[in-house]
Order: sequence, then structure tokens, then C-alpha cells
Amino acid sequence: MNLQTLIDRSQLKLDNVHPYIAERALEVVRKSYAEGIYVQITHGYRSIQEQDALYAQGRTTSGNIVTNARGGYSYHNFGLAVDFVVLDSNGAANWTVDSRWKRVGAIGESLSLEWGGNWSNFRDYPHLQYTFGLTTAQLRAGHRPPNTSGIINISPNTSGQIKLGSRGDKVKDVQQSLSNLGYSVGVFDGVFGDKTNEGVKQFQRDYGLVVDGIVGKQTLDAITKEEDKMKEKIEKLEKELSNLTTMIKQGASPEPSKWASEMWEELRINGYFDGKRPKGLITREESGQVINRLRKNLLNLIVNNQKELANQSETLESLEAKLKEIEKENS
Ligand SMILES: [Zn+2]
Repeated sequence: MNLQTLIDRSQLKLDNVHPYIAERALEVVRKSYAEGIYVQITHGYRSIQEQDALYAQGRTTSGNIVTNARGGYSYHNFGLAVDFVVLDSNGAANWTVDSRWKRVGAIGESLSLEWGGNWSNFRDYPHLQYTFGLTTAQLRAGHRPPNTSGIINISPNTSGQIKLGSRGDKVKDVQQSLSNLGYSVGVFDGVFGDKTNEGVKQFQRDYGLVVDGIVGKQTLDAITKEEDKMKEKIEKLEKELSNLTTMIKQGASPEPSKWASEMWEELRINGYFDGKRPKGLITREESGQVINRLRKNLLNLIVNNQKELANQSETLESLEAKLKEIEKENS
């Protein structure tokens, strides 16, 4: 049995399963495999209708009774449970609960999942769940768990992965994005070479992901999230700047701001003005200070993101150009 096959088959059953449980389900497969136990996930999310049909089995329709839960009464209906099966080395499902099954249940528990094999009234050996402390009644009433990402991160999707040796536009996008976030990836050439590999690994290390140099769903999601955060910050700065420009054009407020004197000294040191305070209450002085504050914020942002100055020089340049514009208007 090949681990990847077990992972791939399990992956197919994890649609709509909460990521906290899905990640752990795959980790159960991996950890069991490492101990020579072949496990695959057989069920994950079930709709209410599917659950009702299953409940009918052995009651109003043919077959054996397989569940005691009607639709809406199973954690499967909310993506909070999975079922597994142990396979023999020939790949055949082995439904006889033996030491392997018990070991898999224990592995699930070690990953903070609840194993149905330990329940006192109805033992559900294939079943693993995580309830987030919610009852099915609460879930039926519309309560939902947070969309927590697990501590264990696994790149779940093997298709479309970008890794060492990959080529193309997707690689180029990743190179550009990582560079925007301050990671050195070499030339943006669409070739996933050693430098890009190092950049990806560093990013994964910094964000607590599995450090395998493979850009799968988890890594890609993390990159996108960080880029969005950064974009948001820059947009906020630009908005502040444009508000300021409008304010100056409309004739400045006569109220001097509280932070003006503190900022003045730094402003002078940074060479924006010659040290002589302007007589007016706002205009050049405060506008310059705001620009300086923006510049400082932006620099902090760059440092926080370990970003190379070159990547942000355009934004800085445009800020400085706007400053000059304002200075001109006010001189
Ligand atoms: Zn189950």
C-alpha cells in the first residue's frame, strides 16, 4: 500500500469537512501508515437528506441498520466527523475491530479527536469527531464552530502543487507574491529553482506551515492572506494621504493637532523642513508631518514584512512626489 494513494482516496471524502478535522483525519492516515497500519477515510460530510436515507436503511428500506442518527443528529451533517476503515496489505477493507483499529482510534485521540470506539453505549469504531463543544441541537439551531485552522498543517491537495522543478505563470505569481512579502526568491522567471525553494521554505517556517517547499493549498492560502493584509494596510495609508490632500486643498483646519510638536523634531531630522516652524497653524508643517508619519508607517510595514526596499520604492516615491506637490501648493 502506498501512502499517497491512501491520502488521495481520503482527500476525496473530505469535501465540506471542517479544516480542523480534515487536517487531523489526514494526519491519522499518515501516522498510522508510519506504524504499518493502512487506514483510509471513508466518509466525511453528509447532508441532512443523505443522513435521513442512511437512517432509513434497515428500518424502512433494505439493508442493515448503520446509524442511530436521523438527519441533523449526526456530527457528519455539520462536517465535524469522519469515518475510517483499516485496510489489509492487499488493500481490502478489514472491518474486524482488532488492535490496529484500536491503535488508529488512539492516534485520533492523540490529535484531540474523539473516537467513537470509546463510547459506552453505542461503540462506533470507524468514527472520529471534533465537536468544538457544540451539541447537535446547537448545530441544528444554527450555531457554528470557528473556522480555526489546525496546529497541524498539511498541504491537502496534491494536484496543482507548485514545487521544485515546476515552471510557468503560477510559479511566477508565487515568486512575485513572496517577493512582495519580503522573501528572496531569485529572478521572477517562472522557474521554481533552489532560490524559490528556499524562499518558500522560509515563508512556511515563518508561518508555522509544514516546511516542505511545496506550494499546496495551505501555503497558497497563507500567502494570499498575507498579501491581502499588506494591501489593506497600504490602501489605508493612501486613503489617509488623499484625505489629507483634500483637507489642504479645501483650506486647512485651524486646530493644531496634538502630535504636531512631537513629530516636528523628527520631521526636521528627516530633512523635510529647514527647522523654522511655519507661522500658519497647519498647511506645510502638519501636512509634512502627516506625510512623514505615513512614510514611517510604510517603512515599519516594510521592516515588519522583511521587505526589500526596492519592492516598495514605487509606493515611497509616489508618497514623496505627493509631498512635493503639497509643498509646492503651500509655498
Ligand atoms: Zn461516523
